Amino acid sequence: MLKPTLSEITPSQVSNDGYGLPVANVQSIIQQHLIPHQESETVALKDALDRILATDIISPIHVPAHDNAAMDGYALRSADLATHTNTTYRVVGLAVAGNKFTGTVQTYECIRIMTGAQMPDACDTVIPQELITLHKHDNEETISFSSELITAGANRRLKGEDLTQGKPALIAGKLLSPADLGLIASLGIAEVSVKRKLRVAYFSTGDELRSLGESLPEGCVYDSNRYTLHGMLKKMGVTPIDMGVVKDDTDSLEIALREACAQADVIITSGGVSGGDADYTRALMDKLGDVLFWKIAMRPGRPMAFGKISSGEHSAYLFGLPGNPVAVMVTFYFFVRHALYQLSGRSKIEEQTMKVISAHAIRKKPGRTEYQRGIVFTDDQGRQQVRVTGAQGSGILSSMSEANCMVILRHDQGDIAAGANVEILPFEGLL
Ligand code: AMP
Ligand code: MG
Repeated sequence: MLKPTLSEITPSQVSNDGYGLPVANVQSIIQQHLIPHQESETVALKDALDRILATDIISPIHVPAHDNAAMDGYALRSADLATHTNTTYRVVGLAVAGNKFTGTVQTYECIRIMTGAQMPDACDTVIPQELITLHKHDNEETISFSSELITAGANRRLKGEDLTQGKPALIAGKLLSPADLGLIASLGIAEVSVKRKLRVAYFSTGDELRSLGESLPEGCVYDSNRYTLHGMLKKMGVTPIDMGVVKDDTDSLEIALREACAQADVIITSGGVSGGDADYTRALMDKLGDVLFWKIAMRPGRPMAFGKISSGEHSAYLFGLPGNPVAVMVTFYFFVRHALYQLSGRSKIEEQTMKVISAHAIRKKPGRTEYQRGIVFTDDQGRQQVRVTGAQGSGILSSMSEANCMVILRHDQGDIAAGANVEILPFEGLL
């Protein structure tokens, strides 16, 4: 499948009026441009947790394989219930899970049956043991019960009611959960084909950046973005490739980008896409591939570059994120995360946002999307409310660390009144 180049997709959509390109347009341009990789590998079932299924799993058997009892009790023929004349049944045998009753059950007969045991051929109903009275005679047992207590077909699990032989049990593109592993095991399948993990190389740019272990001269800062990115990438289940800090000069950047291209499917850089820096980065990107520099109508995270670059026979998608630590996280959550899922071959996921009560008024100008750091809490009436963390500057990483959600203020939205509903994206389970 050939995708249009970025310049082909974007002209009409990149109307940089007002604050810049709307977030939704950026998300859609990125989505249109990506082609998922097609490589897969076979892994043992336990190793398939949190991996993406590469091919549909077709059920080789019915689960359950036979009609079986859903409760401990007595299996009988529902035709006998219909007569209503006789509510005493002779107990003619026993079935336990894994051990079938092989005799026959005649009219007004039943067998003692335990949960999970296969139903005898003639029986279709189980009366739970709590509902019967057991009568013991010399060599014989009978049960009696009130027939209003039971309907035909009750307490029986049907063959194939969980999974049907020949039908897809799981569809390719699913991120495999603990439940999925159990489900696959219930089919007797020990190995699964999963998508190869996406390789994501990342580096920080900036002459002022120092790595951990180095001294911190005046005017310099420790590089925190590589640690934030490492954490987010790890949680997403991709393979992170840390390429360190790269100086703000064309040659160093070109070497780093070419090296990243050779190793990774995706390259994430931070810094160097805003203001004057963008000029030399842009010139280099033009040399290496098809990359657009956007001013996005959002806060934080206004500048961002996206495209595809090549070096020799290798190519990789590139996300040039802003340098500010909070902007890195926000652009990752709202652009990169979905792109990585898509490139990994994961089926499309709905964003799990929710509406909660805003604990206070929030100022917001229409015409750009704002992502504020929020703390959701349950108030004394059991309702969920959100308050934004103190300082919202895009360099203030402590606000992000304190937060448990993003408050999303959409493009056209204006001020939020205290007590009004506001949309949030909880961090828990996000990656
Ligand atoms: P830039 O986008 O390169 O202009 O960077 C914007 C701001 O973010 C500057 O104050 C940088 O010092 C800071 N910054 C850039 N990269 C990092 C990083 N890796 N870790 C911490 N701060 C950074
Ligand atoms: Mg910089």
